[in-house]
Amino acid sequence: MKTSDDLKALLQRIDHKGYPTYKDTRGSYRFDGYVLNIDHVQGDPFASPSKLSAVIPGSTAGFPSSLFDLPHKRIALQDHLTRLFAKKLESFNFKAKGSGKSGLISVSRCGQEILSRTALSMDPSSGNLSVHFEVGFPARGRTIAAFELIKILFDFLPECVRSSFYYNRLNKRVIKEVADLSEDQQYIREQLPKLGLCAFVADGSILPRESGVSSRPMKQAVAFHSPDSLKVTLNLPHHGPLTGMGVPKGITLIVGGGYHGKSTLLKALELGVYNHIKNDGREYVITDDTAVKLRAEDGRSIKNTDISLFINNLPNGKDTSSFSTEDASGSTSQAANVVESMEAGTSLFLIDEDTSATNFMIRDELMQRVVHRDLEPITPFIERVQGLYEDHGISSIIVAGSSGAYFQVADHILQMDRYVPKEITAFAKEEAKAFPLVTLPEKMPENPSFCRIIQSNRSFTKNGRNKLKTLGKDAFQINKETVDLRYTEQLCDAEQTTALAYALLYAQLHLIDGRKDLRQIVEELMRIIETKGLAAILDCGYVKSNLAEPRKQEVFAAFNRYRKL
Ligand code: ADP
Ligand code: MG
Repeated sequence: MKTSDDLKALLQRIDHKGYPTYKDTRGSYRFDGYVLNIDHVQGDPFASPSKLSAVIPGSTAGFPSSLFDLPHKRIALQDHLTRLFAKKLESFNFKAKGSGKSGLISVSRCGQEILSRTALSMDPSSGNLSVHFEVGFPARGRTIAAFELIKILFDFLPECVRSSFYYNRLNKRVIKEVADLSEDQQYIREQLPKLGLCAFVADGSILPRESGVSSRPMKQAVAFHSPDSLKVTLNLPHHGPLTGMGVPKGITLIVGGGYHGKSTLLKALELGVYNHIKNDGREYVITDDTAVKLRAEDGRSIKNTDISLFINNLPNGKDTSSFSTEDASGSTSQAANVVESMEAGTSLFLIDEDTSATNFMIRDELMQRVVHRDLEPITPFIERVQGLYEDHGISSIIVAGSSGAYFQVADHILQMDRYVPKEITAFAKEEAKAFPLVTLPEKMPENPSFCRIIQSNRSFTKNGRNKLKTLGKDAFQINKETVDLRYTEQLCDAEQTTALAYALLYAQLHLIDGRKDLRQIVEELMRIIETKGLAAILDCGYVKSNLAEPRKQEVFAAFNRYRKL
């Protein structure tokens, strides 16, 4: 292998040459303590920056294996190291000068959630660390400014690598706290099913966020406090006893006046499928990690989905056991979202009346009397919610501020009162007695059919010329077709969206064969990610993009929203 001296000599030779000569630097170089790979070199100073990686042997990094021997610990440590490295790089960002993106140095930016990312991975057996980052190779006009790059690669980077990835140089107490928190979080996750719970919210949690554009905790918020009747105390391995609200399986209704914090609680539960970093305020808000936020999504496309659980006898005679549309209504989209989430294996629905189609959620008694049942294609969710729990084991947590209809079917009713939940089940049930009951159907119809065979799409080529583009967190484009994920609300990072684009491409090239159904394809994809790592879905021939791991539920969501499937 070439050495760092070879690289330095090469750079000195190409100084002042035309920018494309930078391409000669591609390759691997042995530095003191790590190997530097120059994986991809940008074509000009304004193009997206060059891709580099460093591999630090486990023996040099020196992390004790007890810090990364289990997946949840490893992901937490990887996440923490990515943050440390990002912070170090930031202090050197644009310290080397030049035109265009000269001097940029960056690595994936992590938000409040702890995700598995391709940016930094640790080999579970050797402890070898591999980190991918970007550098804007410096230019003077359109020529090579080699001495600026030498500053980056020979002064800045070695310092960043050593101060972020050498265990001996890190604050060991902080590192241990990261591993301990991940174990505590994992412990809560494992306790949920054993205790018959679908979510846990610790007392003292801070649920609201700083603002609509910042997911940091709100300062001076009212801390969460569990109602006595739902109090559960868990004995965490590191934290010790921790008390909070255990949301029992079944149907839970959250009511309360406007602005009393209902949606904020639900939002925290939606993101409780992920672990959060220390001091987020939601680090002990843990939700069943198959949970799906259900909402209306007018305009989405639906492909051969069996929505007959909710919609039947449409006036246009369309078959709802294999329903397709390019432009769904609020209620049909929400019906499809339910069935597709069942297909994705969820055991908890999270629903906010603010973002639901009213005619999907309820149909009041008066309306039932005036418009006869037989003339209404929609069986509202309220008539199915109990069957979904009893027959399919799917719980629901529903926020409803304006309609009391769900009092009748809920097992537990919480009222948010100035941001503090109170359990009011007995009182609400008593009051509800005076109101006419919604007639509920006797039993659930047959299970929806999930056998949707996927045909491969001819617009994909094996030569690496497929075009992928991520449009922030909310959408991606694949061969010019946009997949809109704006309403897939549990996506929390644009790198997850990028991963979904690559997942779809990978499925098109390797998994879809005209025989397997969607479930088999997604299961196989998830198995590949689990066994070979997330980077396995990055097909060779593509410049490595940084990916963050999405859940299976979001993979289904993305595939279901791809109009060319
Ligand atoms: P609802 O859905 O009941 O109408 P929201 O959850 O939207 O209410 O909350 C209304 C406002 O109160 C939001 O601006 C939110 O940030 C704020 N808020 C929510 N929970 C808290 C809390 N625990 N402490 C302080 N402010 C909060
Ligand atoms: Mg609300």
